[in-house]
Parts: sequence; structure tokens; C-alpha cells
Amino acid sequence: MSNKFLSLDWFKQTAENAIAKVVANKLESLMEQEEASREEYVKPYLNLRLVNDTLTIVLNDGSILSKPGATEEDFVAVSNAKNVHEIYAIIASAEVTADAEKIKAEAARMKALQRGIEILAVLDDFTVEGTTVYLTGTSRSLPQLLVEEFIHVVDRVHSNDYECGFGQLQDMLNQDDQYVALKNFFMWCCLNPRAEVAHELYRFLSENSFRITRQGFVVALRNVVTLHGSPELVHFISNAYNKVKAVWKKNPSEYTVFLQDGEYKLVHDDKLFENIIVECTMCPECHGDGGWYNEDMYGDEEDWEECDVCGGSGEVDEYEWEETQAIDHGQKIGKLTELYLDLPNRAENRFTDDWTKTFDIRIGQVTSMPKEECNWSTQDCAAAGLHFTADQIHYVGCGDQSVIVLINPMKVVGIGTHKGRCYEYLPIMTVPREEATRILHDAQFDTITLDEDYAIRELESLTERAKEGFAAESRKYEFNMPAISAAEITNIVNSLSEMKATISKRVSTIK
Ligand SMILES: [Zn+2]
Repeated sequence: MSNKFLSLDWFKQTAENAIAKVVANKLESLMEQEEASREEYVKPYLNLRLVNDTLTIVLNDGSILSKPGATEEDFVAVSNAKNVHEIYAIIASAEVTADAEKIKAEAARMKALQRGIEILAVLDDFTVEGTTVYLTGTSRSLPQLLVEEFIHVVDRVHSNDYECGFGQLQDMLNQDDQYVALKNFFMWCCLNPRAEVAHELYRFLSENSFRITRQGFVVALRNVVTLHGSPELVHFISNAYNKVKAVWKKNPSEYTVFLQDGEYKLVHDDKLFENIIVECTMCPECHGDGGWYNEDMYGDEEDWEECDVCGGSGEVDEYEWEETQAIDHGQKIGKLTELYLDLPNRAENRFTDDWTKTFDIRIGQVTSMPKEECNWSTQDCAAAGLHFTADQIHYVGCGDQSVIVLINPMKVVGIGTHKGRCYEYLPIMTVPREEATRILHDAQFDTITLDEDYAIRELESLTERAKEGFAAESRKYEFNMPAISAAEITNIVNSLSEMKATISKRVSTIK
């Protein structure tokens, strides 16, 4: 392997991950079987008649279909149909079928949505008014796509235990990473003073690779320009640190970086030492001396006493014991987590933007611009702000290096079709060119845990900053202001702050 970057494929193929992968595949096929057995056969119609040449079918929902000019064959085909779709296919011309299918699919979707909303309504986290869903304590309604996403998650969690009560279901949801991530994501969106920008952000993510972290931050990409010639260590450390978390789901604190034969190496704590068997004939009693001088009460040496164990020879029959010894991995560079947290201080960790060449961009350090200089709009290009993309890396400017960035939805100022703009992002790792277009689509690159430190920083004095943001916005415009009260901001900030306690527990090794 080339070790300039630790590639995604290397992480995926490495043995440490293999077991989890097999188990996951097995689970998946079990779930598919279950799914298949759940769909029991139900006759798709109530009644079927062929009178003269008109075939009339009464479907289970009471609707009536008829086909003039039908034949005996049509009648037999419909009576053997496994589902409504097959019936439509038999009685309708191709184009009518397509329309009916579309209407049917949309109706099914709306029905499922309605059923899903009813489930959301009984959970503490949601407040439902008609078909409008709110996160309890917030006044901005959830966009329909996000409601559907929540319903999927709730349904998945609920399917683990259909018997559970709704109180229990809420508890189970609070333990579910994807659920917590969506909830946090929407709360940060509520703190964005521009409701339509936050709304667009959700649409944008749904249409691209929807990757968020547990704390609700958006995972995105952008290009930068390398200022120094040799940021190999930055590539290695940032890729190793984030992929250990995202692909292996391991704690980076358990790894050490070494330099051996010109290549960086990642070594787990378990591989730092080995036990070796030592064979020996030296007498363990006299340590090979054959005896010792006794001392008198004044500390002066007196007479020689011969060792009983070896009879004075200093040697015994060969015996063995285990000894722990460091394995040679080359030059030790440092512990992975410490190296990652120290990246902003390293001279070779210097990048800039291609457009202005003025930004000081470092992996592990926030890049920001004054938000009043940003252009709040939904345009794609040529508007002020820090650009990012969900996966269409060629849209976000030039540069020799792609980086993964975390973005707080509260700080997004504009969303276009394929790219967005924000006034602050945190670059967390460099991305090999060949991975830039696929890493955020790779199911084994799990972004959920990529953000603990950033989350803690973002929560500091959040109430003040959120209020400030809204105040600044309302000074600029005299209309189109989202109604959000100080009490609501406090509510949301309190909910978001609950994550702080959880994070501190989880990353005690990092802090
Ligand atoms: Zn001895």
C-alpha cells in the first residue's frame, strides 16, 4: 500500500474489520428473509366478473376497474394476479398503467406518511398539529423530507420491539445514533436565522450524500491549495485518526504512529509489545555468582557463603520464562490522538483557498470569515461565503487537495444545487483525490462519531451567539423574519447541551 494516505480501501480490507463485516452481512440477509415472509399473500380483489366482453374488477379498497373488449384470457390472468399492480398491467394500456402506478405510489406514500405522523404524535419529542410536525419546544415545522426520515428511523427502532410501550420507544430512540443525529441536526437548523436556508440545506443533503454526525453537523467536502511541499504526516495522521473512528469504529487513542523505512505505520497498543520465551541456565538464587559474602553487624564483608541451589557453580539445568519486550516498529512519532490534536501547530499543516489565497486553512482548526460579509442567498456561485459540496467535488473551486469539513447547520448562509456556502467550517482530514467523489457515499465510512471536540466548542456561549445572529438578521430586513423567541432559543440550546455530558463521558481519553 502507498502510505501517503491511509486509503479507505485499506481500512475496509484490513482484518480488524472483517468480523464485523461478516456479521453485518448475515444480519442483512436475515432481515431480508424476515421482510419477505412478512408479505403474506392477500387476494388483490374483492370481486371479478366478465359480462359480455366487459371485465369488471372490484378492488379491496372498494374502487372499481373495468376493461371493455376483454377476453377469457384476461379474466384468467386477473384471477391469478398476485397484486393490484399486476391487475393494472393486465387491464390497462402501458401509459395508463404508468399513470396509475404513479398515483398509487404517491397515495401509498401519503398513507404511510399519515400513519407515521400518528406514531410521531405520541412521542414526547414531537408535537403534531394536523399534518404539520414540530420538534417539541421549537416553532419551525419539520420539512416533509425530514418527517419521512424521522418516520423511517422510528419504524426501524420500533421494529426491534413491537410490543414496547411508547415511553419505552422514546427511550430506545434516545439511544439511537441516527435518531439523535437527525434531532440535533434540526435543532442547529432552527438556530440558523434564515429559515429558508436551513430548509434548503435539508433538500440539498437529501439529493446528495446525506452525511451528518451524531451531534448534527454536516459532513462535506471542499478543495484547498497546499502551501508546503510535504504534508505527508498531515495526510497520514488525519486519515488514520478519522478512518479508525469511521471505518473501524475504534478509539484512536489506542494507536501509535511509527516511521519505519521511510513509511508511516499505525500500530495498535496490543502490537507494541510481545512476550518472548527466554532460555537460561543462570542460577536464579545467586544470579550466577555461585554464592555471596555475608556482612557483619558493622556492614563489613565477612566470609563467603556458597549457594545451595547451584552448589557454587552459578549454573543450573536449563529453564525458561516469559518476558515482555517492545516490538521494533521503527522510530516512534507519537500517540495518534495527541498527534491529531497537535496538527494545527505543525508547520507542514498549511493550506489556503484558491480564490483569494488569503485564508489560513489547517486540518483540525476552524476556518471562518465574518458572517456579515457573507451573501445570504440560495445561489450556487459567485456569492460570498466559504464554499462546500456534498460530493460533487469539481464544483468547489480549484486546489490540489480535497478535505473533509464539518459544518454547523446554524452557520450555513446559502445553498445551491450542488454546493453551499457557510461562514465557518472545520477541516478534519485530507482526502485522497481518488476517494473524493465516493467517500461520503461509502456505507462503511460512518460519519456519526467524527465530531466530539467540535461539538463541545460549538456549545460554548451558544445562547448569546444564537440571539446575536437573529438580532443581526432582523436589523437587515424588515420582513420575512422567522418567528423564534428568546425562550425557544434557550430551549434548543438546553437540549443541544445535553449532548455535552454524553460526549465528555465518551471521549475522556481524548480530552
Ligand atoms: Zn547459585
